[in-house]
Amino acid sequence: MITSTNHHPDENMLIEFSAGTLDTAASICVSAHLHFCSSCRAKLLRLDQVGSQLMSQAEPVEVKDDALALVMEKIDSGDNAAPKEPSFHGDMPFSVNKLMGTSLINKNWKRLSSSVDVARFKTGQDDFEVALHKICAGGKTPKHDHEGLEYTVVLKGSFSDENAVYREGDFLLRQPGDVHQPMGAQNGECICLSALSAPIKPTSPLGFLMKPWLRINPM
Ligand SMILES: [Zn+2]
Repeated sequence: MITSTNHHPDENMLIEFSAGTLDTAASICVSAHLHFCSSCRAKLLRLDQVGSQLMSQAEPVEVKDDALALVMEKIDSGDNAAPKEPSFHGDMPFSVNKLMGTSLINKNWKRLSSSVDVARFKTGQDDFEVALHKICAGGKTPKHDHEGLEYTVVLKGSFSDENAVYREGDFLLRQPGDVHQPMGAQNGECICLSALSAPIKPTSPLGFLMKPWLRINPM
């Protein structure tokens, strides 16, 4: 399925992805976005061509594998015995299917709040927690700031915050100082792939009550 996405990784991120230097967690999110976004795929193709031209002009060096293969290799080094639940229907990016098949940590969705469930992945790196988040129809997440980076790719359904509505394929990067309150669309659940380098920072004075949200588990 091809949807027209409105939110994309920036040019620098695609350059690093093409060069194979983008970190694993970000690469997983970029490759998930590429599944939905023909314009970023076209950009990446151009970058790959430029890259291989530069390489052919340079002194002979070890040839790099393509970026996605590198990511998959890293994922493959994770624990392959993980259970396959949860599953959901839809047209999933290859990188996500691969993670679902090999790297899920919890057997079932884990409840983060009455509106949000999480399923975490083992991706063999210790900087980011990589996970699926499921927001129920109309479900609210706590209003929060960010202590680190948060990559999000919408895989199914849509959600909105104070700034925009995000649909399948949309890629978001949130950074410290970006305060928002995501809310699931009324017409169905929303599933997102996310990578967090630090726990979210609730803006409510009662935020300390939201224990499950206040730690991440990079693995
Ligand atoms: Zn794009």
